[in-house]
Amino acid sequence: MTNNSKKVWVLGDGQLGAMLSYAGRPLAIEVCPVDIMVPTDEILPLAASDIITAEREQWPESPLSLQLSSHPNFVNRSVFGRLADRYSQKSLLDALHIATAPWELVDDNTDLGRLYGKYGEHVLMKRRIGGYDGKGQYWLRQAEGSQIPAAWRNVSIAEQAIDFAEEVSLVGVRTRQGQCYFYPLTLNLHQDGILRASIAPRERLSALQPQAEAMLSSIMESLEYVGVMAMECFRVGNQLLVNELAPRVHNSGHWTQAGTHMDQFQLHLRALCELPIMPPQVNFQCVMVNLIGLEKDDRWLSLANAELFWYNKEVRPGRKVGHLTLSVHEGEMLESSIMALKAWMPAHYQATLAWILDEFS
Ligand code: ATP
Ligand code: MG
Repeated sequence: MTNNSKKVWVLGDGQLGAMLSYAGRPLAIEVCPVDIMVPTDEILPLAASDIITAEREQWPESPLSLQLSSHPNFVNRSVFGRLADRYSQKSLLDALHIATAPWELVDDNTDLGRLYGKYGEHVLMKRRIGGYDGKGQYWLRQAEGSQIPAAWRNVSIAEQAIDFAEEVSLVGVRTRQGQCYFYPLTLNLHQDGILRASIAPRERLSALQPQAEAMLSSIMESLEYVGVMAMECFRVGNQLLVNELAPRVHNSGHWTQAGTHMDQFQLHLRALCELPIMPPQVNFQCVMVNLIGLEKDDRWLSLANAELFWYNKEVRPGRKVGHLTLSVHEGEMLESSIMALKAWMPAHYQATLAWILDEFS
């Protein structure tokens, strides 16, 4: 390694770590994702000048996670625990006066009738820690006579069901000196709690951009955060409500790989390594389709405007195994690509693909 090269260790070795590695290459940043679950007595060769980041907000204690998380250059150390717990995350939003779905802790004394009285006839319980892709959610519906499961008391929050028009997210970065840069808002389609597709940028969302940037700036500033953070929001009329925050690169920012001159992975690495950062420039509007529980289909590669990222994971129902990003050069090309995907993809993809066509019609 030359004196000027950097090494970044990633706590976790899933697809986000892999994409960070890929983004580090052209900058001569060596990125080393670590599978923290491997039982080992290995001592990682961490140098004093190395930098540590994480691809997940929460992790079990293991010999390897301890080595990484106790390194002095573990960036954002105090933030992970705070945002990984929905209780402290929602408390932070309230303290900053940032709009979010009204909520409370669920404990031994929480009374269901009072919850319905306060929030309405649908209430969403979310486990404080460890939920993802809609796992860790439990709907309470008055008409169906739902009960609070005993095992969910003292480990979850209850949230008002938000009747949102759509879901959007903002991915941004903060440097150590406190400068913030953002991508344009991303329009997201979630079904059953899992992200199916994203579209960005979307001209009709640009009026919300200043509001979103102000929210995420104040969050990152208050945490003295360094690197990329994602903010998922509900749009209700002209108002954004924060759904949740992720102190890391994010699935709804994957379109930046195909659509910008500096994707979210490179942006995160630049911030961590204190390299110069410019506002990311958008080259193309993009449509990102998550590949969930599908076998790889090489016909996808025959689409003129498609970029495939395959995660090389075992395919299981409901599991994200890749994403396909279509850059929108012209409407006709997008439409023919989506029509081809409709023919190649199974029934449970039709609604997602129809949603995309609908957005562009
Ligand atoms: P992620 O994989 O993004 O971490 P998650 O499982 O942690 O997801 P959330 O992001 O909180 O959970 O929720 C997943 C989805 O569930 C949201 O994108 C939204 O579609 C729906 N949802 C969450 N909270 C509410 C709410 N209060 N009202 C209505 N729908 C909601
Ligand atoms: Mg979410």
